[in-house]
Amino acid sequence: MSFFSAARKKRHGILREQPLDGNERCVACAADCCRGFPSIELDADEYSRLESLGAARLAFTLDGRFYLIIENGCEFLDGNRCGIYDLRPRICRIFFCED
Ligand code: SF4
Repeated sequence: MSFFSAARKKRHGILREQPLDGNERCVACAADCCRGFPSIELDADEYSRLESLGAARLAFTLDGRFYLIIENGCEFLDGNRCGIYDLRPRICRIFFCED
């Protein structure tokens, strides 16, 4: 098993139907979910919202997909916590880390 696949296996989770708020499970974590993916997909409203918050690592494709690049750590991390917790994108709300 390569280092890469071991790292990928460690950082797994699922997307839930509904947000699961309450960050008790995140207290001891080093924000792996906010560092462990190349990007997260946004909708157009989220893209605009993050742009207005000063996001510098936004991207979009010609076929209408919007992304926030989070490779090497999301720019909205404040230490190991989300600095825009109440305004974070839906995918961040419904991601449930299984570790
Ligand atoms: S917006 Fe917040 S929860 Fe989402 S990846 Fe960035 S720091 Fe993590």
